[in-house]
Amino acid sequence: MADTIFGKIIRREIPADIVYEDDQCLAFNDISPQAPVHILVIPRQPYEDATQANAATLGHVMQVAARLGAERCPNGFRLVTNIGPEAGQSVQHLHIHVLGGRAMQWPPG
Ligand code: AMP
Repeated sequence: MADTIFGKIIRREIPADIVYEDDQCLAFNDISPQAPVHILVIPRQPYEDATQANAATLGHVMQVAARLGAERCPNGFRLVTNIGPEAGQSVQHLHIHVLGGRAMQWPPG
């Protein structure tokens, strides 16, 4: 698959505000936060989206996202992964948004 800006962050070719990393994934603050807490969790493996990732990788990034949300957002938070153009996916490298720190609307826009 094509390289993306998230591949450059993984390789440290461009800076990011990294808040967590392990052998399988990286988490960093979104450059354009939509909530007081807005973290992206990405696998090191460049799967295009959640439909492409294997279960272990998808499970790991979701678990890390849930842990980061629970640590930082005691009143609740949302995990989102956008897939494809109608969902607004703009970076073709699987990422889980961790959004929190304010009340959320439902349904999402
Ligand atoms: P999506 O629209 O679901 O594909 O989400 C992509 C997210 O990546 C957006 O929320 C962007 O603000 C974020 N983003 C794009 N470039 C960067 C970057 N260099 N560092 C941090 N976040 C970024």
